[in-house]
Amino acid sequence: MKRLLILGGGTAGTRVANAVAKRRPDVSVTVADSHGDHLYQPANLYIPFGIDFETRRDARALLRESVVLRVERASRIDAAARTVHFESGVKVEYDALVIATGSRTDHDAIPGLSEAGHHFHCEKSARALKDALALFEGGKVIVGASRLPYKCPPSPIEFTLLLDERLREQGVRTRTEIHYVYPLPRVMSLAPVADAVDGIFKDRGIKTATSFETESADPEKRTIRAADGRVLPFDLLVMVPPHCGAPFLAESGFAGPGNWVKADKETMRVADGIYALGDAADLPVPKSGAAAHYQSDVVVENVLAEIDGGAPAAKYDGRVQCFCETGKNQALKIEFTYATPPERPKTSYLAHHQKAILNRLYFSLIPHGWL
Ligand SMILES: Cc1cc2nc3c(=O)[nH]c(=O)nc-3n(C[C@H](O)[C@H](O)[C@H](O)COP(=O)(O)OP(=O)(O)OC[C@H]3O[C@@H](n4cnc5c(N)ncnc54)[C@H](O)[C@@H]3O)c2cc1C
Repeated sequence: MKRLLILGGGTAGTRVANAVAKRRPDVSVTVADSHGDHLYQPANLYIPFGIDFETRRDARALLRESVVLRVERASRIDAAARTVHFESGVKVEYDALVIATGSRTDHDAIPGLSEAGHHFHCEKSARALKDALALFEGGKVIVGASRLPYKCPPSPIEFTLLLDERLREQGVRTRTEIHYVYPLPRVMSLAPVADAVDGIFKDRGIKTATSFETESADPEKRTIRAADGRVLPFDLLVMVPPHCGAPFLAESGFAGPGNWVKADKETMRVADGIYALGDAADLPVPKSGAAAHYQSDVVVENVLAEIDGGAPAAKYDGRVQCFCETGKNQALKIEFTYATPPERPKTSYLAHHQKAILNRLYFSLIPHGWL
């Protein structure tokens, strides 16, 4: 029996594992995940506002019965021996390997940031931010992202607009200045989306500081400093921290700066019998569950082709389809591929409700590959 080993049991790893297990009972599929919980990270955006969707489920419950789950943290890939070493000392051999270890926040990359600021990119921090928001009575708020890449590029925009809505409901908005800061020359990487968001920010009285590469934060003075010397004061700082790939990948020989795995942007192939997808892969598309969804279909085809002695022929076209909450029960729908940039999106109630359905049904849909 050929052996497929998948590192990471999140959105990407689960989709690949279940699809291969369903199609090919003759391939043994093992998922190794460092904690064994499958996290639904988009739910973290809503926690600070007191809106709770299910955030985690036992990874076992989402995998087909024939898939073996090992709760183990990978520590080294020996590509020559087709073996992965785990922190426990266990070694697992494979015929094909899929790297789907996601991304993580790297708090120490910006001095002072973890002491000075909040964020909502993990559940614990999102809950701490909820407590901070409950005490907030007005003042200067800075929301933004510190460095690229990070997962879900629209998420600081969504947070800004949901915060604006919440503060208006509470009657605190007139006493609050919201400043959105971003490292690029516009409020997000996709120009047509940035144009649409700019218009919304203007309508809602949200200031922006672009090309703002946050270099440090001062928790005493309550300021952030950009690489170009600009300094902004805050009473509340909500900053998406820098992200990086799993640390063990740094020594793998397959990763570049930030531990992102260098995969072919179409076939997702890294090396003989090795593929990467989702947040872990260094690809010119946003790190998102939506991208991982389309990439996993390609990885399944190509892994099976290689297991059968063929060559990878399936190609990822860079497709991403996602939603950006804009408050007031509306959202922007954003769709594009490598070849087709997004159109300038319009706010719509339908887009918001489509996202709301995903938030409620994620754990019902993911085991079947419907998401
Ligand atoms: C606030 C927020 C909002 C978001 N909103 C959206 C949205 O609206 N739409 C959207 O499409 N995406 C959204 N995302 C992004 C989405 O959650 C991620 O892009 C998606 O989860 C990536 O899937 P993945 O499988 O690559 O990584 P993950 O789902 O993070 O899974 C990676 C897995 O690898 C495991 N792992 C890590 N290191 C090791 C190791 N050494 N050994 C073994 N296992 C390991 C981890 O435990 C984890 O289970 C959002 C994210 C956040 C934080």
